[in-house]
Amino acid sequence: MLSVPRLSQLALARSTLDRATERRANAAWVAERWSDPRCRVLVIVDGKAPASEDGSALVYVSPASVEAAGAPSDERYLLGLDTDGVPYFAVHGTGEADGEGQDGRRLIGLREAGGLVSDRDAGVFVHAMALVNWHAAHPRCARCGTATEPTDGGHVRRCPSCGTQHFPRTDPAIIVLVSDDADRCLLGRQPSWPTGRFSTLAGFVEPGEPLEHAVVREVREETGIEVVDPVYAGSQPWPFPSSLMLGFFARAVTTEIKVDEEEIAEARWLSRAELRAAVESGELLLPGRVSIARRLIEAWYGEELPGDW
Ligand SMILES: [Zn+2]
Repeated sequence: MLSVPRLSQLALARSTLDRATERRANAAWVAERWSDPRCRVLVIVDGKAPASEDGSALVYVSPASVEAAGAPSDERYLLGLDTDGVPYFAVHGTGEADGEGQDGRRLIGLREAGGLVSDRDAGVFVHAMALVNWHAAHPRCARCGTATEPTDGGHVRRCPSCGTQHFPRTDPAIIVLVSDDADRCLLGRQPSWPTGRFSTLAGFVEPGEPLEHAVVREVREETGIEVVDPVYAGSQPWPFPSSLMLGFFARAVTTEIKVDEEEIAEARWLSRAELRAAVESGELLLPGRVSIARRLIEAWYGEELPGDW
């Protein structure tokens, strides 16, 4: 077995709100929260949210300003309550009233904001993105094709024709730092990435497949390397559009790389010294600091590394 660190304080795994899961099925209770004068709404526009100019705080608006901007009254999603009872909602904005360019605000993406904002704002943004993406992609009943309606504060869509309830979708994906007996790590570059951009290997978990099998299968498919002993290291949501990244370390028992060129353009074994030299020279670019890939690489390496995409 590998001795591996557990990843803690992942940038997108910092939610603090009470999701109020028992209470949100009560539509009247949810409507009262929307009417609360303290209610704060995050407007998601094209995968971005309004933030302060330095990106350190999200900018929330009131329900009244959302309604004035013409957002559909039934398409608002309850994210939860802060410790002082302040309700937080998300809406899918049209871009008309997002506040960009007003009062020193700007729109910020989650990849950037994840490393800048507070624990509360990180959790709000991730939850909002995941829900907005799901609602936008699933307007109709998968059984009968009828347009569905959001209920439960936006955590269910119900079909008015056949009564089926549809729940938000989360797609589990494994992501794995593979190392070998010579203490080298295995990194790969996807065909769509520019030369020099490398990351850990990753792939979606298939139906009926345990996570550990997905780790072994994905590494074998992408690089021809056989791994054993996958060890879970931590997880974080990755709502681009709906993934949950499940981080692992695994030990390689073979070393000959044979890439599947559809998924991986090239893969490399790197010693700690080679990795350090390659990132310092700029020859190799590591994933952004908000990603679990980056944290897996740095956990294996033992400290933070310079540079990112
Ligand atoms: Zn239906």
